[in-house]
Amino acid sequence: MDKKFDLNRLNVKAFAREGLSLQGQLSLAQFARLAELALSPVEPALQDAGQPAQVSWDIQAELVPVSGADAQIWMHLKAEVELPMQCQRCMGPVTLAVKADASFRFVSDEATAEAEDDASEEDLLVLTPELNVLELIEDELIMSAPIVPKHERCPTLVPMSAVDEAFEEALEARPNPFAALGQLKKKPN
Ligand SMILES: [Zn+2]
Repeated sequence: MDKKFDLNRLNVKAFAREGLSLQGQLSLAQFARLAELALSPVEPALQDAGQPAQVSWDIQAELVPVSGADAQIWMHLKAEVELPMQCQRCMGPVTLAVKADASFRFVSDEATAEAEDDASEEDLLVLTPELNVLELIEDELIMSAPIVPKHERCPTLVPMSAVDEAFEEALEARPNPFAALGQLKKKPN
């Protein structure tokens, strides 16, 4: 990687002017807020030993010419991680692929960003000489992560269905309190 470009303090304008792209992999541990969404490593047996999750990322920037105005500065960001999470249905561990794919257009100030935001499909960011790309990657992945992580199909459904049947039988055997209420209402005065 070119030492000139530091992901914590990226000069987007220079990066875009040269039409550059960068990609790489970083340990999930380097993204503290994102790592908080992952299953706590309290149970090391659940983690692949010695293989912490890796965040793959890819950024590209370009200058897009605009007739009669300054060229626009754009950045395209892709990131992906296999996040170990806890299934909210069976409470077992589940590894979910979290992917982010976003395009940003840089504008000169906050007022322009606010004025143009509604009309723009892309995300607008205020151009700064030092953009923290790692923070941006982390934000995008956090927004892409499932709020309620779940297995597509939970691996432990067998004992649950047995319990369900017994539970439903017990429910059927009991008089329905609302049915009884209905009968009361139907009685003539
Ligand atoms: Zn599950």
